Amino acid sequence: MKVMKKDHVMTPEKHYQTLSNHYRHVYQQKVFKVPLNGGFSCPNIDGTVGYGGCAFCSSRHGGEFAGNPLEPLDVQFEKGLRMMHKKWKDAYYIVYFQANTNTHAPLSRLKELFEEAIRLDPKIIMISIATRPDALNDDIIRYLSDLNRRMPVQVELGLQTIHEKTAESINRCHDLATFDRACRKLSDAGIEVVAHIINGLPGETKEMMLETVGHLNTLPIDGIKIHMLHIVENSKMGEDYKKSPWPLLTLDAYVDIVVDQILMLKKDIIIHRLTGDADRNALIAPTWIIKKFVVINRIDQTLRKKGLYQGDHYET
Ligand code: SF4
Repeated sequence: MKVMKKDHVMTPEKHYQTLSNHYRHVYQQKVFKVPLNGGFSCPNIDGTVGYGGCAFCSSRHGGEFAGNPLEPLDVQFEKGLRMMHKKWKDAYYIVYFQANTNTHAPLSRLKELFEEAIRLDPKIIMISIATRPDALNDDIIRYLSDLNRRMPVQVELGLQTIHEKTAESINRCHDLATFDRACRKLSDAGIEVVAHIINGLPGETKEMMLETVGHLNTLPIDGIKIHMLHIVENSKMGEDYKKSPWPLLTLDAYVDIVVDQILMLKKDIIIHRLTGDADRNALIAPTWIIKKFVVINRIDQTLRKKGLYQGDHYET
């Protein structure tokens, strides 16, 4: 069961489909994610497909704001709720397995965790699972499809780039074909797919970053997360950068690229993020990403000035 609606929720302020507008449109209420940590590992770290992990990945493995895996899920959930309710009083919840690769475990373990998670609170309206495309076998997809009939399932897949040379240089350890196959299988199973990409990876030009979005337009994805490369402590890239820094995208260059990506992105793809949440204590560079609202404002202003909307430069 996908919760996507066909209507395009764009406004004079936001010339693209934001996740919060989309959820307000569907649920008429605020929806927020409550991170849960199931204590998973990653196949690109434990040797299943590679060692050392992706070069940009920190020792927290994408779970900088995730719960403590040593605590039971209900305790993590209560703590997460308390944090989020400081900002929003009334809301629906998405339980979010974010850190590491959240399908990298025996099916029986996945069932145990996910079934417990969706029963934590009657106001939970979705389960979101971040994983790698090479950690989704047919049995797992069959189970997620079954789960999806009882509670909407969203799967987040890390792509970062379509360019194999870059993928090799960041030690991603899966190819584009694996990503494409996983997207199609999940979508055929009725599961919502969100793709994650990174702008500013070493050696990539603006054209290459636009090509990544162009390729995503050809796949059955429902949402996208666009990030600027964060160079962080305790990552391979962080070590390399500290030894010998290289030029990173400036804020101006990032805004220019993201605006063009939005314009070429299909109108029905929901934009979950246009920049990431940086962990200030771990961030090495670029420091401009800390001011998230400045980045978003610059993107919004540029689109308004141009008078253009998401998908206006979409080409079939
Ligand atoms: S980014 Fe994801 S796939 Fe890559 S090492 Fe980190 S947790 Fe694993």
